[in-house]
Amino acid sequence: MKPAPFSYHAAQTLDEAFALLQAHGDEARILAGGQSLTPMMNMRMARPTHLVDIGGIEDLAYIRGNGDRIEIGALTRHYQLEQSSLVQRVCPILAAAARNIGHYAIRQRGTIGGSLAHADPAAELPLMAVLFDTEIEIGSGAGNRVVMASDFLVSIYTTALEPNEILTQVVFPTLVAGEGWGFRWVSRRVGDFAIVSVAVTVKLDSSGRVERLRLAVGGVDAKPLALGQLADAYVGQGPGSRWVEAIAEEAAGQMQPGSDLHASAEYRRELTQVLLRRALRDALDRLGKH
Ligand SMILES: Cc1cc2nc3c(=O)[nH]c(=O)nc-3n(C[C@H](O)[C@H](O)[C@H](O)COP(=O)(O)OP(=O)(O)OC[C@H]3O[C@@H](n4cnc5c(N)ncnc54)[C@H](O)[C@@H]3O)c2cc1C
Repeated sequence: MKPAPFSYHAAQTLDEAFALLQAHGDEARILAGGQSLTPMMNMRMARPTHLVDIGGIEDLAYIRGNGDRIEIGALTRHYQLEQSSLVQRVCPILAAAARNIGHYAIRQRGTIGGSLAHADPAAELPLMAVLFDTEIEIGSGAGNRVVMASDFLVSIYTTALEPNEILTQVVFPTLVAGEGWGFRWVSRRVGDFAIVSVAVTVKLDSSGRVERLRLAVGGVDAKPLALGQLADAYVGQGPGSRWVEAIAEEAAGQMQPGSDLHASAEYRRELTQVLLRRALRDALDRLGKH
């Protein structure tokens, strides 16, 4: 299939990209890695008349540590997140999530900015953004703003981005000493989007009690869900099998997924419970606690 006709503009700088978006308004779409937009154009589900390619803006491709934060430029490719020794060391769950995205070719081209802007509810990087409620930096010709991931992701394929705005940077926190993590998913075939995916971090205090717990589930709603209230209720406890089981069961009970051709609501709820149980055990194993 072929896309509808469009004009192609290659921006070399952010200012050039802002000017092009300003000039073409609603008719323009940003092209980053092209791994979601071009299939949608080929299927005529997207018909931009102007494509603004930001792939050549080298200033937007970086991963840098800054104290207890990792700043990631919007044009960072999935394989760069997967292979970055910094990310592997200070936020290994993010590298693991990137490794699980699609196939090799998709990870070579796809970008973190594109994945977040595309906002697929089953995608890995939106799940990571929600888990940490990351800061997302957005620019336009008129200035910059920062939006937290929980506000940025609005619904399926819908974000807080305005047509003239570009997502420029995502800021993740680093995991600290004594903080374990787990990331589990089920997909029908290797490289497919997950039917359900879960991500957790568990931080223990010096007495072995849970000091911080983060829980997030993807593929069960119009956007990935952070289970903050549920997580808070399990802080302060000693993490054992009953703790793991109670969280997994309560979380699954809260889910109200829909049924579609990939899976029934009941199957998704069941997956949530099983995957959370496994991810929590992984996190505790990484802490030598299980
Ligand atoms: C066969 C296949 C399998 C896949 N499997 C998975 C998977 O398992 N998990 C997963 O998470 N993803 C998967 N993907 C999607 C992949 O991760 C894409 O790379 C990602 O969704 C989009 O990133 P991109 O850079 O390619 O964006 P593009 O396709 O270029 O753009 C996507 C959207 O984001 C907008 N956009 C891009 N960059 C910016 C920016 N900086 N600011 C504002 N708007 C922007 C574009 O205008 C467009 O609307 C798959 C894709 C394919 C084709």
